[in-house]
Amino acid sequence: MKKLGFGFMRLPVLDPNDASKVDFEQLCRMVDRFMEKGFTYFDTAYVYHKEQSEIFLRKALVERYPRDSFKIATKLPMPKVNSARDNEKLFNEELEKCGVEYFDYYLLHAMNSERFEKAKKYGSFEFLKKMKAEGKIRHIGFSFHDDVKLLEEMLTLWPETEFVQLQINYIDWENPSIQAKECYELCTKLGKPVIVMEPIKGGSLVDIPQEAEKLLKDYAPDASVASWAVRYAASLDNVMMVLSGMSNMDHVEDNTSYMENFVPLCDDEYKIIDKVVDIINSSIAIPCTACGYCVDGCPVGIPIPKYFALYNADLQALNKGFSTQMTYYTNMTVNLPTASRCIGCGQCESACPQHLAIIDGLKLVAERFDK
Ligand code: SF4
Ligand code: SF4
Repeated sequence: MKKLGFGFMRLPVLDPNDASKVDFEQLCRMVDRFMEKGFTYFDTAYVYHKEQSEIFLRKALVERYPRDSFKIATKLPMPKVNSARDNEKLFNEELEKCGVEYFDYYLLHAMNSERFEKAKKYGSFEFLKKMKAEGKIRHIGFSFHDDVKLLEEMLTLWPETEFVQLQINYIDWENPSIQAKECYELCTKLGKPVIVMEPIKGGSLVDIPQEAEKLLKDYAPDASVASWAVRYAASLDNVMMVLSGMSNMDHVEDNTSYMENFVPLCDDEYKIIDKVVDIINSSIAIPCTACGYCVDGCPVGIPIPKYFALYNADLQALNKGFSTQMTYYTNMTVNLPTASRCIGCGQCESACPQHLAIIDGLKLVAERFDK
C-alpha cells in the first residue's frame, strides 16, 4: 500500500457552519482521483462530520467501487460506550452506515486514561478480538492521545494490538505534552506499525510564519508547505500510513503528487525542518489542532477551535503587518457566544487530546478580541 490515507474528518462542506452538509459531488471527484492515482486507504470514524462521515464514505466509495479495491479504517466511539452491549450495538451500526461486511482496520477511538478504564470495564478490546475471529475485522488497534507510560500499559495488556494510530508531525515530535517521539519509539520497539494522524496538525503547518515558509520555498520552490509535513511523517520507517484530511481537489492533487512515488526526507531537508520548528514554536500561541472534540460538550456553545485559530493567526499576522482576524471574530460573534462567555466548567479540557489549557486560552482570546 502507498503510505497516504484519505482522512474523512475534514471533507468539503456546502455550509461552513454545518459539518454534516458534505459536498457529495466534490467528494466523489476527490475519491475518484485518489483511487485513479493508486491510493486505496480511507480513514473515517463514527463521530466525524456530525456522525455523517461513515455514511458519505459508503456513498462516495463503497457503493461506487468493488470492496476488494480499497481499505476502510473506522473507530469505536468510546464516549458512547456505556455498557458491554454498546460495543456490539455501535459496531453493527457502523457496518451498516459504511455498507460493508467487514472493516480492514478497526480502532478504539482516541484512547486516553479515562477511555482505557472504560474499555477495560466494558471489554471493548476483547470485543474487537471476537470480531476479528469472526472475520468482521481484519486488523485491530487503537488511536492514542496520551503519554508513553499509558501506551506501554495498554500494549502490555493488549499484546494482540496490530497497529497504533499516533499524532506525529514535526512540531509535536519533541512536544512534551504530546510525546510523539517517545510513543513512536515504543511502538517500534514492540513491533507495532504506526499510522500517523494530524501530520500537518489540523492545517496549522500549512499557514506557517513567512520566515519559515521562505526557508522551505528557497530550498524547493515547487513543493507545497504541506508536503514537507506529510513527507516528514512518512519518512519514519515504522510508519505504515499517513492520514491526510483532504478538503478539496487541490489537497488531493498535491498530496498524491509527492506520495505517488514517495521519496523520504534527506539530511538537508531535516536540517531545514529543525529551523522551521524553532520559528514556529516561537510564534504559535495556542497549539490547537482543530479536531473539534471539545465543542460538543460545551454548555455555552463556544466554537473553541475557531477562536483559537483566529487568535493564533492574529499573533502571526502582527509579524506580517496585516490582520483581518478582528473582523472575522466580530462577524462570528453576531450569532455565536463570545470567548468571555466561558463559565470555566472544564468539560472541554477533559475532552481535548492535546491537553490544552482551554479556559486560559479563551481568556487570552477574550482579552484580545472582546475588549
Ligand atoms: S470551560 Fe468554557 S469553553 Fe470549556 S466547556 Fe466549559 S464553558 Fe465551554
Ligand atoms: S481545543 Fe483541543 S479539543 Fe478543542 S479543537 Fe483544539 S485541540 Fe481539539
